[in-house]
Amino acid sequence: RTAVVLFTRDLRVHDHPALATSCAAFDRVAPLYVLDPALTRLSSNRTRFLHQSLADLRHALRRLGGDLVLRHGDPVAETVRLAGELGAEAVALSADVSRYAARRADRLRAECARHRLHLRFFPGLTVVEPGASTPNSGDHYRVFSPYHRAWSGQRWRDELAVPSRVVLPDGARVGRLPAVPGGESPEAAVGGETEARRRLDRWVPHLADYGDRHDDMAGDATSRLSPYLRFGCLSPLTVANRAGDRASPFVRQLCWRDFYYQVTAAFPDIARTAYRRGATEQWRYDDDAIADWTVGRTGVPIVDAGMRQLRAEGWLHNRARLITAGYLTKSLGLDWRTGLAVYSRWLLDGDVANNSGNWQWVAGTGNDTRPYRGFNPIRQAERYDPEGEYVRRWVPELAAVSGKAVHQPWRLPEALRRSLDYPPPSVARTVDPVWLR
Ligand code: FAD
Repeated sequence: RTAVVLFTRDLRVHDHPALATSCAAFDRVAPLYVLDPALTRLSSNRTRFLHQSLADLRHALRRLGGDLVLRHGDPVAETVRLAGELGAEAVALSADVSRYAARRADRLRAECARHRLHLRFFPGLTVVEPGASTPNSGDHYRVFSPYHRAWSGQRWRDELAVPSRVVLPDGARVGRLPAVPGGESPEAAVGGETEARRRLDRWVPHLADYGDRHDDMAGDATSRLSPYLRFGCLSPLTVANRAGDRASPFVRQLCWRDFYYQVTAAFPDIARTAYRRGATEQWRYDDDAIADWTVGRTGVPIVDAGMRQLRAEGWLHNRARLITAGYLTKSLGLDWRTGLAVYSRWLLDGDVANNSGNWQWVAGTGNDTRPYRGFNPIRQAERYDPEGEYVRRWVPELAAVSGKAVHQPWRLPEALRRSLDYPPPSVARTVDPVWLR
């Protein structure tokens, strides 16, 4: 008896419910990945990370006696075709929440029914499955705190071991993995489960400091595990279990991730439409301002530092995300969807649920219970980069300015200001924010 396991955003062999269960229930298992051009054209950073992760997954499966079957094209058509070629009777995959994933699931259901294939969805992309707990008042949690309480008190599934053996069906053509393509960010992290587990091991001893240090932008004291969670090189359940204490500030962040997954499952239009009913959306149009923001030449150092880190690393610190996104939407009054698209092109961890959920939170159209909160980038900079170290790291034009003066170059003595190759704040052209006066 043979099954096809379709890999998607779960590129690992540890704690992989669809793989582990299929290996236990079937004599032969064909692990499949389908390179879908609809996804790989979105971001060259993520496509590079994906290829690295696939190469690593293939190694891991070969060590278990199996292999990774690689196909190009439409995942649904290729899955059903492979099942036909191998005489498989079942297809298994991890359940996902985006609109793309929901459509793929619907089409798989229809095609599997037509070909008399047994189709089964498994957990594995979140700690707690979307919809596993719901409030009395609706089909999903709209506010984080009650969700966090329910999530922490819930029974989590047991972590699963690596299958002892993967037996590939006879005659399965595995296909060649294309050469790893170039990415856009020179300092981007390397993909794959091996690297992910190494990073998790190195991160665990720092967990105790996370609560005090995670907002220190220069200290860079967060786990940087997000791209590995995005591609499923790590199981979020494994990460949460390794952290130990469910009440810890770090595990709370993993809960935010689950929170946005259950929001997206219930509201799949989250990347396009305001989530909050009655949210006012009156955005300006300003191509110059968007261009300055995208390349990190707004003239507001903490914003420019963030955007340059994004382009260099394909990743940026959470506080820098809040500041750059707050600046775009609340200071410049520009549409959150524009910022979401720029992030989506560069971010290794960019995904529909977390990217859209967080952008909407910042823009006041999402789950924030205080959608009209103000935004002052200078106060943020002085609080979370008090010595200006983060700014000087990413904006070398300001390296000669010491201490926190670096946050407001427009207030420097004129001679020094003129000597710097750094623009005045472009926001002054169109709006007049209080923090600039
Ligand atoms: P840590 O601080 O070490 O946290 C551990 C894990 O918890 C992260 O890896 C991540 O999986 C999860 N997490 C942490 N904060 C959040 C959060 N606010 N929301 C959801 N999950 C969280 N995260 C993404 O994974 N993908 C995105 O596309 C994304 N876009 C964002 C856009 C904006 C405008 C903002 C403000 C935040 C966004 N985030 C996104 C959330 C957060 O900034 C990143 O998850 C975090 O910075 C990743 O770094 P880390 O792994 O070191 O996080």
